[in-house]
Amino acid sequence: MSESASGVRGMTVASAFAGMRSVTPLVFRAGCPDCRGRFELAAGALRLAIGATSRTTFYSFTCPDCGASVRKPAGERIIELLTGGGVRTLRLHSTL
Ligand SMILES: [Zn+2]
Repeated sequence: MSESASGVRGMTVASAFAGMRSVTPLVFRAGCPDCRGRFELAAGALRLAIGATSRTTFYSFTCPDCGASVRKPAGERIIELLTGGGVRTLRLHSTL
């Protein structure tokens, strides 16, 4: 009863999910602005970077077709989707 899920979203979403339900591998649809390819990426192929502001918050992946590294802004919805799907999250703003 003392457990609270409010507030902090750590980097251990995957472990938080473990045991709660069986995980079906999630895929995210993405497109490449370089070669205009469209594809589905597993959570492990994506990275989410959360900066201090929405301008520095983005997700990135490498295009499986042309190899370009693609970076796109991530809104709140996308962040929820990605973190919920087990995408690795980096926090860019340091506490220094
Ligand atoms: Zn591409």
